Amino acid sequence: MRDADFFGKLLRLKRPWKVDRVSISPEEKEIDVWLEHRRRAEFACPECGLPLPIYDHVAARRWRHLDHGDWVTWLHARVPRVYCLEHGARQAVVPWALPGSRFTLAFERHAIDVLLETDVLGGARLLNLSWDEAWRLMERAVERGQQRKKRLVIPRIGVDEKAVARRHQYVTMVCDLDRGTVEYLADNREKTSLDTYYASLSKEQLAGIQAVAMDMWDPYIASTRAHVPHGERKIVFDRFHIMKQMNEAVDAVRKEENRLLMEDDIDVLKGSKYLWLSAEENVPPKMVDWFEFIRDLNLKTGRAWAIKEALRELWSYRRKGWAELYWKQWYFWATHSRLKPVKKVARMIHDHLENVLTYFDHRITNAVSEGLNSKIQTVKKTPTGIAIGAI
Ligand SMILES: [Zn+2]
Repeated sequence: MRDADFFGKLLRLKRPWKVDRVSISPEEKEIDVWLEHRRRAEFACPECGLPLPIYDHVAARRWRHLDHGDWVTWLHARVPRVYCLEHGARQAVVPWALPGSRFTLAFERHAIDVLLETDVLGGARLLNLSWDEAWRLMERAVERGQQRKKRLVIPRIGVDEKAVARRHQYVTMVCDLDRGTVEYLADNREKTSLDTYYASLSKEQLAGIQAVAMDMWDPYIASTRAHVPHGERKIVFDRFHIMKQMNEAVDAVRKEENRLLMEDDIDVLKGSKYLWLSAEENVPPKMVDWFEFIRDLNLKTGRAWAIKEALRELWSYRRKGWAELYWKQWYFWATHSRLKPVKKVARMIHDHLENVLTYFDHRITNAVSEGLNSKIQTVKKTPTGIAIGAI
């Protein structure tokens, strides 16, 4: 088989394109493949798709293609232009590359796979690209992804902050709660972190947002209220986050009580930490008797625990009105408990109650983004932003 036919098969070239010749430069370890189209071919206007005769050609150019072994491979061609009566002189679209790209489609696909598994620096090294080239390649892929999503309305989103690698360093993550996909990542957990996501959406997409699950985090609240039409009715404070705070209150009560008891050498609370944090039905069977015993001791910790367990019930109501009534009873109980940490959480929920109860309009939680979080294994800082690995 001739070299040209061989490469034509490898490249899966279709009429009117064919391989004209192949040359290799052993010193540079490069393979050059020259492509040509049949002389009387017609090409489509890239705007309207009308098949048209060739008008002229732009100067020859080259595209980086997949390496063959450690040989860098280049495709060369002169791209024809057509003259459309409606759209004027236009460059034809070539089947092996995207308009304006310096790489073939096959190379871009491979490069994205590599870059998703590594960070930009390591990927660039493996791909024999400069850092800039690798970054731009990735940026364009994200852009294309966003173009495809442009028309897509995401009705239920989750906004979550994630600690990355080191302490006190955060990213803001926006998820599509229905599809379970990460839609957006931004540095920090400021208002501006979320602003940039909303700013990237069209009017229709913003209006199409029906509900936003989030923590009681003022910057996110402010951003959502500012950008999403009727945002204040669409925010749902995530119940897992609320229960987490409640659990922290129970733990604070236990710690303090344990400290006081230990002063009198009473170690009844010793080793009980996780029992109080468990939901009642999750207490291990062999601990049930002991747990019942210490619960009946009329300790502050037992009271805090009972209040916490009662709060869980709030989300089991089917009607908002009933949930609201239940809340009032619970709130009275919690605020009269004489347990400082419990009272503090109760007031916090009270101050945000409206958007806790929006749960009964939308019924969403951030459980999806919590799950996704474990899949983000590497979030790496780069000079121009962040690169995500392994989503
Ligand atoms: Zn046209």
